[in-house]
Amino acid sequence: MSESFCNVALQVPLRTTFSYGVPEELRAQVQAGSRVLVPFRKKAMIGVVTEIDVAPPAETKIRDITKVVDLVPALTPKLLELGQWISTYYLAPIGEVFRAMLPPITELSLRREIVITEAGSTLVADLKKGAALTDMLLGEVEFLQKLVQKKGPMQFGSDAKIGIEPQALQRLQRRGYIEVRETVRGRKRKTQQVVAWKVGSAKPGEPLGEKEERVRALLATERGPLPIPQLVKLANVSRAIIERMRRDGLLDGWEEPVDPAEDPFDSGYSPPAHSLNAEQERAFNSIRARFELGEFGVQLLHGVTGSGKTEVYLRCVQDTLARGKTAIVLVPEIALTLWIGRQCRAWFGARFEGVAVLHSALSDVERAREWWRVRNGQARVVVGTRSAVFAPLENVGLIIVDEEQESSYKQEETPRYHGRDVAVVRAKFENAVALLGSATPSLETYHNAVNGRYELLTMAGRVENRSMASVEVVDLRVDFQQTHQTSPISRSLHDGIGECLTFQTQALVLINRRGYSWSVLCRSCGASVQCANCSISMTHHKNRNRLECHYCGSVQSIPTVCPKCESKYVYFFGEGSEHLEERLRKEFPGARIARLDRDTARTKQQYQETLGAFAGGALDILVGTQMLAKGHDFQRVTMVGVISADSSLSLPDFRAAERTFQLLTQVAGRAGRGDLPGRVLIQTFYPEHYAIQDAVRQDYLAFYEREVHFRRMMAYPPFTSLANVIVRNANLENAIRWSRRLSEYFSPHDGKGLRILGPASAPLARLKKEHRYQFLLKSPKRSVLTKILAGAMAFCEANEIPETAILVDMDPLSLL
Ligand code: ADP
Ligand code: ZN
Ligand code: ZN
Repeated sequence: MSESFCNVALQVPLRTTFSYGVPEELRAQVQAGSRVLVPFRKKAMIGVVTEIDVAPPAETKIRDITKVVDLVPALTPKLLELGQWISTYYLAPIGEVFRAMLPPITELSLRREIVITEAGSTLVADLKKGAALTDMLLGEVEFLQKLVQKKGPMQFGSDAKIGIEPQALQRLQRRGYIEVRETVRGRKRKTQQVVAWKVGSAKPGEPLGEKEERVRALLATERGPLPIPQLVKLANVSRAIIERMRRDGLLDGWEEPVDPAEDPFDSGYSPPAHSLNAEQERAFNSIRARFELGEFGVQLLHGVTGSGKTEVYLRCVQDTLARGKTAIVLVPEIALTLWIGRQCRAWFGARFEGVAVLHSALSDVERAREWWRVRNGQARVVVGTRSAVFAPLENVGLIIVDEEQESSYKQEETPRYHGRDVAVVRAKFENAVALLGSATPSLETYHNAVNGRYELLTMAGRVENRSMASVEVVDLRVDFQQTHQTSPISRSLHDGIGECLTFQTQALVLINRRGYSWSVLCRSCGASVQCANCSISMTHHKNRNRLECHYCGSVQSIPTVCPKCESKYVYFFGEGSEHLEERLRKEFPGARIARLDRDTARTKQQYQETLGAFAGGALDILVGTQMLAKGHDFQRVTMVGVISADSSLSLPDFRAAERTFQLLTQVAGRAGRGDLPGRVLIQTFYPEHYAIQDAVRQDYLAFYEREVHFRRMMAYPPFTSLANVIVRNANLENAIRWSRRLSEYFSPHDGKGLRILGPASAPLARLKKEHRYQFLLKSPKRSVLTKILAGAMAFCEANEIPETAILVDMDPLSLL
C-alpha cells in the first residue's frame, strides 16, 4: 500500500499539526493551503493542509482525509508562510491562526448522525440467536435493531422518528454500541447574476444606443458591477436589452451568492478630483521611486491632520495597479472602510476589476463572497480592517496602513497579532512596499524612521494652506475656583459652543467614557459597587436604569443603599457621555444634539445615520467617545471640546502619555478642516503635563523626543521587547499554584539577556470570574523572548497546566 500522508492544522488549542492519510482519489486535489474535512476524535473538522507528501508517521492508526473543501487552495503559499510566522512569533496555535486568516465557511453546515458499531451489530445478532437480555431496556434494543435494518447512519433532525430518549442514547453510546458523529454537509446557495462592463468592448465609431449608453455609464463609471435586477431598475431598461448586450460581448456576467446585507457601495458617490499639492507630490514621488526599486521597503508618511494623506494613498494604489500588482489598504475602523472603500471604488472599481471590502461587520456570506472574489482574482484592491492584512491577493505590491498607531490593529484574542506589524512582515514576504501613514505615529514606528530602518516622508502643512486649529487648555482648577460649579462643561467651553450656535457652525465634544456615571460610591464607608465577576467598578446607565460592567457585560440593579454597610448615602460620580449629553441639552435648549458611542451606535446603520446627519448639517452638536476622534472629514466644525484629558493619563500603563497625546492631536485635527478656522479646548487638571502641552502646540517631534527619553530610561519599547504572560483561572488556588510553577521555570532565566517581573497580581486582578496573575518579560532582543516563551509553553504542557490558563501577549498594547 503506497499511501501518501499530509499534515493538517486544526482549529484546536494545540500547538501541533496532525497527520492524515490522503486517499488515492483525493491525491490530485490535496495541496498545501487546501481546506480539508477530516475526522478528529469523534467529530468531523475542517483543517488546513500545511504540508503534503510528508514521511509516514510513526503512529499506526492514521485516519484519512474525508473530503477536500476548496477547489483552489484557500491559502496561497505566501499566506501559509505568513501563518507559520504568526504562529511562532505570537505563540499561537497554528490552527487558530489559520482560522483568523480564512473566510467563514458559509457553504457548509454541520449535521449529526448516529451509526451502529461492531459491538452493537454483534449484540443484535446474538439477541436474534436467542441470547438473554442483560440490563438493556426494550426501547434500546429496538433502536439498535432499527439501526441494523437501516444499513446506514441515522440523521438527527431529519430522521424525525428516531424514537429514543436522549438518556438512552447516551447509555448506548457509553457502552460502545453506537457512535454519534458530526459531519459537514454542503448547503445550497442562492445565487444571482451580476454583470459588469467589459473593458474595451465598445468599438469606436459605433455609437451605443441611448439605453446601452445608460447601462455603460452605470457599470463603467458610476457604480461598477451590479446584479441584473438592480441594473434593470437603475438604468430603466428591460432585461432583454441586458441579455442582448451580454451576447454582443459588451458585458461580462457571473454568478454570485445573494446576500441580504446591504451593498456597502450602494450610494451614488463621486469623489472630488484634486491635483496634488507640492508636499503631496513630493511624498508620492518618493513612494514611486521606492516601487521602481521593486524590493521590500517600509515608508512612514508622517502628515499632519488634513494634509491630504488619503489622496496620496489613492495615487499610490493607482500606480501599483498600473504596474500590474495588487494593493491592500488597512484602516483602523469599519466606518473608514466604507469611506475609503467608496473612494477606491470610484477610482478603480470600473477600470480594474474592482475593489473588495473586508471587515468584521459583514455577514458571513458577504465576507466569504468578498474573500473569494479576491482569491479568484476578481478584485485587485482590498480595503479593510485588521484581518484584511490576510487578504488572499497574489502579487501584492503595496500594503498601506492608515493611522498606523491605532490600537484597533492589535487583536486582543488568540492569535494576538498586530495588524501593522504583520503588514510589514507580509510586505517582506511579498517583496512589496509597506506604507504606514499617521499624523501621530507610534513611538515604535517613528523610532524606526529615525534610525533609518523606515524611510520618513513628511507632510507638514494642511491642504490649501489651511491653518491648524488653535488649541487652548482650560485649567479645571481655575475654572472651579471662579465658578464653583461642578458641571463637566467649563465656562470657556460653554461660551465656545454658544458661539458655534450663533454662527451656525458645528461643535464636537469628546468624552472618554460612556454611560451616565462611571462610579457608584458609598459616602459612609467608601465602598464602590464592583462587578461580581471583575475587579472593576460598575458604570451607571441612566436610560437603561441599571449598572453595567464594561468588561464582562454583567448588569445589576441600581442600589438604593450601600451593599456593604447599608447606609443610604450612595452617590454617583464621574461623568460619562450620557450625562454629558443630558447636560448639554440643559445648557443649550433648542440646539440639535446627538450622541455617538457604543450605546447609541449599536449597528453600522445607526452609526452612519448619526455621522451622516452631522456631516449633512442636521445637527449642531455631536457628543461622543473616541469614535469621534478618528479620520472623519467634517467641513463645518469650528469647535472641539475635550471634557477630560486626564482620565487617559492616569491609567497604569507606560503608553498613557502617548495615547493621550495621540488622542488630543487627532481630535484637534477634526476642527477647521473646511474653510472655517477651528478652535480646540482641552479641559484638564494637569495642564503642565508634557503630553498635553505638546498636543496644544501640535508638536509631534517635541513629544517624541521627550517620550523616547522616558522609554529609554525605563527600558520600555521601542528599546526593549515586552511580553505579557497572564496565568488565569476561576479557582484562585489554581491560579496561584500554576503561576508559582511557571515561576520555577522562568526564575533561572532571569538576568540572562532578559528581565522577568512577577508573578504579581495583574492590574485587572479579576476578569470575567477569573483570577489573574502576571509575568512581564523584557529583553532588548526579541528572539530571546520568543525562545523562552516557547520553552514556557512546553513546560506548561509537561506540567499539566492547561493551555487555556496561560495567556501570552507578545508586544502587548495593554498591560491590564
Ligand atoms: P488627512 O487624512 O491627512 O487628515 P485627508 O486625506 O482626509 O487628510 O484630506 C483632507 C481634505 O483635503 C479632504 O477633504 C480632501 O479631499 C482634501 N484634499 C486632499 N488633497 C487635496 C489637494 N491637493 N487640494 C485640495 N484639497 C485636497
Ligand atoms: Zn457603605
Ligand atoms: Zn465584569
